[in-house]
Amino acid sequence: ESPLTALTLRRMREGLDAGRFSARELIEAHLERIASVDGELGAFTSVNEDGALLAAAAFDDRRRQGRGAGSSVPLAGVPLAVKDNLCTADLPTTCGSRLLEGYQPPYDATVVARLREAGAILLGKTNCDEFAMGSSCENSAFGPTRNPVDRSRVPGGSSGGSAAAVAAREVPGALGSDTGGSIRQPAAFCGVVGLKPTYGRVSRYGLVAFASSLDQVGPLARSVDDAAILLEAIWGHDPRDATSAAEAAPPLRAEDRELSGLVFGLPREYMGPGLDKEVREVIRAALDRIEAAGGTVTDISLPHTEAAIPTYYLIATAEASANLARFDGIRYGRRRGGPEDGLLATYECTRSAGFGTEVKRRIMLGTYALSAGYYDAYYRRAQKVRTLIRDDFRRAFDTVSLIVAPTTPTVAFPLGEKTDDPLSMYLSDVFTVPSSLAGLPALSLPCGHTTGGLPVGLQIVGNLFDENRVLRAARGIEAALDLPDSPPAAGH
Ligand code: GLN
Repeated sequence: ESPLTALTLRRMREGLDAGRFSARELIEAHLERIASVDGELGAFTSVNEDGALLAAAAFDDRRRQGRGAGSSVPLAGVPLAVKDNLCTADLPTTCGSRLLEGYQPPYDATVVARLREAGAILLGKTNCDEFAMGSSCENSAFGPTRNPVDRSRVPGGSSGGSAAAVAAREVPGALGSDTGGSIRQPAAFCGVVGLKPTYGRVSRYGLVAFASSLDQVGPLARSVDDAAILLEAIWGHDPRDATSAAEAAPPLRAEDRELSGLVFGLPREYMGPGLDKEVREVIRAALDRIEAAGGTVTDISLPHTEAAIPTYYLIATAEASANLARFDGIRYGRRRGGPEDGLLATYECTRSAGFGTEVKRRIMLGTYALSAGYYDAYYRRAQKVRTLIRDDFRRAFDTVSLIVAPTTPTVAFPLGEKTDDPLSMYLSDVFTVPSSLAGLPALSLPCGHTTGGLPVGLQIVGNLFDENRVLRAARGIEAALDLPDSPPAAGH
């Protein structure tokens, strides 16, 4: 393996600027890495080898002519990947679904366009649970992704391909999407950094919608600094997304780091009996390090935590049932059945053959929750509980500036362990779903390993639009923990 694939994104930029290596060498090193490990990992659904090499050659030509990229183009020449539910005009966008197999959108998602404007070279699209519904990447129609730390285990989901690709050094960074934990949970399982921004902070234009009031795009990377660089490239107002926030995005500075004097709230409800014993020990040890470095950890309560999973699975499925109506074989999706079958039969055949089990389950649940006679009992009620959950956080942020918690109740589980038990699969998001319902920014940071060598993620949740504080604290904690750069177990 080339030493170039182990560099952080920032080091890659510096190396390119200093002429220590060419973009061609950098891109080739990553394409070789993909060729050697991805057959087994399955992190990618498509790889744009030719396009990436052309872009690298163009970058090197510009440099040779003295028109260097410079710091005004923050990602120039750097290889990245994006989750396969983000529209790309030059590569298929499948959402891990048979229904969209071979679909190529006519435009780039805003976040993809922004990465390209920042000079990034997209190596490909990453695997995910079908339409981002899942916690293990096993719901992809194109086969599961494996966890590079332990290939018998899941990488988490739904952005499991992005997390695995970053952990396995196939790319230094990637974008994922997070509706109820889909960036943070796989980041925790694969031992990388993942950030879900405040709802509205990053444009959803060109992100295939799952649950529109929850979906957010965010970065995965091997350091907090790299995640911040990626966030800064994609965030900010977008007139094409009606829910995009008008708040200006403040600049992030590389040297900003904070820990001493910060007060972190630790929600009692997140440290209860549902938490795996070894995960608890690793989290406790990390909290001790935070305190030793001058931070304060204080107990708080988020009393409606228990209601978060049922609330999420009503709201998310209701919104999904509406959003997925467009995949009918007429407007979108590969059509099954012909004109002789009639319209209804065409819809039925297309959707029956195109969608997998989990997607069908959610469409049915959501349709039921929205149906006349049940709407008040389920959907409206869930909306009210969502307000209570939001109020829990609002009150907590009166006394603490950040919240720390485990990202997940367990480490990465073996492939197949939960595929027949959707409820236990849903429970892997107990600690990520509440902040999603509240729309808050939240980051997962690797904070240690179990005795078996599996990564544990520490979650840092901030107040609305407080990404900078989350990132500054995460940098502080990262330095205090001083973990090795890449998880040793990923070194195949
Ligand atoms: N695992 C959760 C679900 O299945 C969250 C998914 C996501 O954030 N996209 O809905």
